[in-house]
Amino acid sequence: PTLSTAEIREKFLSFFEGKGHLRLPSYSTVAPDPTTLFTVAGMQPFKAQFMGAPARFEQGANKRVTTAQKCLRIGDIENVGRTLRHCSLLEMLGNFSFGDYFKRESLTWAWEFLTSPEWMGMDGSKLYATIYEDDDEAFDIWTKEIGLPEDHILRFGADENFWPADAPKEGPNGPCGPCSEIFYDRGPKYGDDIWADYAETRESARFLEIWNNVFPQYDRQEPQADGTPTLVDLPFKNIDTGMGLERLATVVQDVYDFYSNDVFAPIIARIAELSGQPYEGPQNVSHRVVAEHLRSVSMVIADGSTPGNTGRGYVIRKILRRASRHAYLLGLREPTLYQLVPLVVESMGDAYPELRAEQARVEATIRSEEERFLKTLEGGIQRLSGLLEGMEKGAVLGGNEAFILYDTYGFPVDLTKEIAEEYGVSVDEAGYAESLENAQNIARAGSKYGKSELFGAQEALEDLSPTEFVGYDELEADGEVL
Ligand code: ATP
Ligand code: MG
Ligand code: MG
Ligand code: MG
Repeated sequence: PTLSTAEIREKFLSFFEGKGHLRLPSYSTVAPDPTTLFTVAGMQPFKAQFMGAPARFEQGANKRVTTAQKCLRIGDIENVGRTLRHCSLLEMLGNFSFGDYFKRESLTWAWEFLTSPEWMGMDGSKLYATIYEDDDEAFDIWTKEIGLPEDHILRFGADENFWPADAPKEGPNGPCGPCSEIFYDRGPKYGDDIWADYAETRESARFLEIWNNVFPQYDRQEPQADGTPTLVDLPFKNIDTGMGLERLATVVQDVYDFYSNDVFAPIIARIAELSGQPYEGPQNVSHRVVAEHLRSVSMVIADGSTPGNTGRGYVIRKILRRASRHAYLLGLREPTLYQLVPLVVESMGDAYPELRAEQARVEATIRSEEERFLKTLEGGIQRLSGLLEGMEKGAVLGGNEAFILYDTYGFPVDLTKEIAEEYGVSVDEAGYAESLENAQNIARAGSKYGKSELFGAQEALEDLSPTEFVGYDELEADGEVL
């Protein structure tokens, strides 16, 4: 019998309790510091402890902590529906050491948790690791102590194996260090690539990144005038690990992707039932987007954020609108998303009691957003049919018109195209793209957010356009995110 997502989460936390860690509840999705809008990693609430502050918590003093932290990554919203492995909301399982144990324990415990039959029971020969280019210490632990074959290891530079990698170029971002990532080989049915290919492609449906073991030993401060990063030794060496529960469950339950695991499958089934559109797999992007986004917005609304026009509220509204559009594309013309909230509460309410406590408010908030959004959509349909009725077959609808429909009425251009087609009219897509870009430039210039204030704000301002699932072969050929 395979383990449920809830059982996997519990096993992780109790494994690390057994290794002397204090189990703490998840912190809010509202970021604990102003570097991001939402919490993006399990380590984020512990920055002060990594920097040397005494590790004292409400539940007691402890230099070893373990959590399942809900995280929201704005930069991954657009990947949802399109890739096998990205959620916008993810649960990050983590174990942390504040100047206590270091690399050896971190890596050997990770191995024990994944491979021991008592825990995840994975076949060790399917595990692979990446390490930072000059990290011979990690290499020796992997090969000599754990026994991972050398050809299961790849070395990469900062882009892959220093965490966080991108922020340094933009300014100080506190605790950081080299990392070692663990990948699971899902086998040839997901691709005929081999591990060595990953050095080139950096993307694979077959080799799935499941766990990042970070070794924070530096404080990254303001870069030097020439842009060289400034890395100052922290008072002690730390451990920060993060493993996506959705990805781990996918591997452990041996399902195609997280949409088929025990948390998402019931939501997808309900969407199929309500819309009368069967779910047949990854080509059904709309089912996937609706299910994933609904879970995200339920959680962030439960955490006290509300839809709005700025900051977190803006992001929530964008995610909800994206979900609503996809529901509309599935033929759902009445508010429907809020009816899925009980399924999220059922699967995650035990681990995140705030969901249960806030269920009524979450449903009401989502419902009223849906009502508003559907009303504007209907307005757009009237405007569009008015225009189309006056046009000849074979005519072209102006790009700016398509943009107005998008901008004012929330019409995805795909929907405009679909309706126009019924009248034998096509849409000037290049003109649409141009108008969209102009508007985005204006939005950016007028944004009150400084870059440092928010990680991923730019993405939030961009159109979260309806995704087209282009198929794995094509994604691979393009070297695109999968
Ligand atoms: P990827 O390269 O797949 O985008 P990442 O390197 O950005 O992942 P990390 O920042 O290292 O991810 O986060 C630690 C772990 O959290 C990952 O190994 C993965 O298991 C999980 N994770 C990260 N982003 C997502 C996401 N969008 N959805 C689900 N799980 C995620
Ligand atoms: Mg990523
Ligand atoms: Mg990665
Ligand atoms: Mg990673």
